[in-house]
Amino acid sequence: MKSSGMCFGVLVTAGLLVVGAGLPLGIEASGDATPDGDQNAALKAFAQTNPIDVHIHLYKDDPAFGVLMQRLQLRGLDICVLDDRDPDFNNLERQRSEVLKVRQITGGRAAFCTTFSPYDFEKPGFSERAIRQLDSDFAAGAVAVKIYKVMGMEMKSKAGKWVMPDDPAFEPIYKYIAAHNRTVVAHLAEPDSCWQPPNPASPDYDYYKKHPGEYAYAHPEWPSKAAILAARDHLVAENPTLRVVGAHLGSMETDVDQMAQRFDRYPNFAVDTAARVPYLMIQPRDKVRAFLIKYQDRVLYGTDLGVLPRDDTRKALEEWSSTYARDWKFFATDQSVEYMGHTYKGLALPQPVLAKIFHDNAVHWFPGILGAGQ
Ligand SMILES: [Zn+2]
Repeated sequence: MKSSGMCFGVLVTAGLLVVGAGLPLGIEASGDATPDGDQNAALKAFAQTNPIDVHIHLYKDDPAFGVLMQRLQLRGLDICVLDDRDPDFNNLERQRSEVLKVRQITGGRAAFCTTFSPYDFEKPGFSERAIRQLDSDFAAGAVAVKIYKVMGMEMKSKAGKWVMPDDPAFEPIYKYIAAHNRTVVAHLAEPDSCWQPPNPASPDYDYYKKHPGEYAYAHPEWPSKAAILAARDHLVAENPTLRVVGAHLGSMETDVDQMAQRFDRYPNFAVDTAARVPYLMIQPRDKVRAFLIKYQDRVLYGTDLGVLPRDDTRKALEEWSSTYARDWKFFATDQSVEYMGHTYKGLALPQPVLAKIFHDNAVHWFPGILGAGQ
């Protein structure tokens, strides 16, 4: 959500939709060869890992989501995000209360990831105010703090300078988060295609068509992607005791070598797969497989699935089920997975690696995600 991401769900869901009278909650798989049976078998295997999706935006407190999460043995990190350009995402109070309601109706399966407003960073007392807010969110059980691409792609100082994620104004906040053993979820920069001319073959083509205000190619005055990632790397290096999980493959989606380089350099850095699984499909299979095995402690499963209060629950449940089934097939089996008219063979990762990507790494990188008494 709020990245080139939601378009994936829509595209890949087509053709996988569960047909039938009831909600697609059942995973009592018959194992038959129909598309439904296939999906149910994948969801059943997925559920056996006690999966944790570390990147969801579930803002609708419909008990049906709790039922789905229970059936799939699923937990999630429910992420607040602030963007003053978007009326659905410009109010942290509202989002926080939605996320806390969702946590309640899911019996704690959806954990709370808060954020803070970076916009008034030049006002006196900025970091103290942000820290006071985080303090109360931590007391309410927040396990992580999101920072967002408005740093580097939207915010400017009064002097007209682009504000980067390693701006000294944010440093006391990062120190505070590290000292309280919470984790930063860093959605910084965007896919390479955000800086490139429109290309209908790109996974992100539809997103930037719908969100021209977030399309860097149309704003040549914005900082380069390399400059934003350098600022992100600097913040990771300057805060070695702060765990940073780079959302969306850390915006290094086109080549796993870029991630490997950072993992070798920064032991406090990991990534989630949210909305970028197709980028793993389109890279050479053997290379991606070897990367995931080598860095099996540094990649966390996430989707970016999002539900606003006004969204249709049934449609959302179908999308969640088909996304989890597709992703499981891709990571865990050697079956074919379709994406944008192409067929890709699943990675068939070894069971211990799947256990880490779908569960163990989330527990390690987000202490508290399993709730009290963990
Ligand atoms: Zn997101």
